Amino acid sequence: MKLLQGKVAIITGAASARGLGKAAATLFAEHGARVAILDLDAQAAAAAAADLTGYGHVGLACDVTDKNACLEMAEQLIGMFGQIDVLVNNAGITQPLKLMDIAPENYEAVLDVNLRGTLYMSQAMTPHFRALGKASIVNMSSVSAQRGGGIFGGPHYSAAKAGILGLTKAMAREMAPEGVRVNAICPGFIDTDITAGKLTKDMRAQVLAGIPMGRAGTARDVAGCCLFLASDLSGYVTGSEIDVNGGSLIH
Ligand code: NAD
Repeated sequence: MKLLQGKVAIITGAASARGLGKAAATLFAEHGARVAILDLDAQAAAAAAADLTGYGHVGLACDVTDKNACLEMAEQLIGMFGQIDVLVNNAGITQPLKLMDIAPENYEAVLDVNLRGTLYMSQAMTPHFRALGKASIVNMSSVSAQRGGGIFGGPHYSAAKAGILGLTKAMAREMAPEGVRVNAICPGFIDTDITAGKLTKDMRAQVLAGIPMGRAGTARDVAGCCLFLASDLSGYVTGSEIDVNGGSLIH
């Protein structure tokens, strides 16, 4: 059964080959969706879109920290597809800094991409979603928001991802009467390139020791949860945060 047949989804930060956004795009396309992949580099986004199964996908450049770029992109995509049903706010960056090492530019970079980007892209799509009266927004938070880091990102990353949880719930509350559902996913330790080679063997072993399932998650593990939240299977789910972490938070 194809869960997104005839639907259109925007996924931000989805050009990274081993990333969560690309895995969600791949699974959405397998389930019949047309997907708009947005990322910083136009060529990388187009190449990622060309990789997806099916037809009608696009890959375009959009820096989610730039409000005008988000507004223009929303207008362009609505013109192109007519109707957009799903937005996955996935673009994110992290930095392995300790509290006293967070400089203003670190704070700005991490808060801006993760939190401001989620707000701006959601604002850009909200008038369309409200007019449709039915849509799903999925925001990528992190287990770091729930347990104060402990994986890779510093306190500013935990704060940004915790901000996403608050934003998700407030957006969900405001838009529930209008048929727009908003949920967050909290992935645990997932094997992608976000750590940019800075995760040492020791750090990895320490993280794995705290995961009851004893392995890192895969991007596909997170994509499955994205698909559930994007599809009508989750039609009565809003304002929730779903853990995809191999049991990391079992007390
Ligand atoms: P990734 O680095 O593979 O992909 C992130 C993508 O975001 C990249 O393609 C990058 O170019 C893009 N991006 C960065 N800044 C952008 C901007 N301003 N505008 C548009 N795109 C931008 O990382 P990933 O591991 O796939 O992470 C995806 C999301 O999942 C992030 O929000 C991350 O914080 C979150 N997350 C990841 C993990 C993990 O263990 N990998 C755990 C919890 C949460």
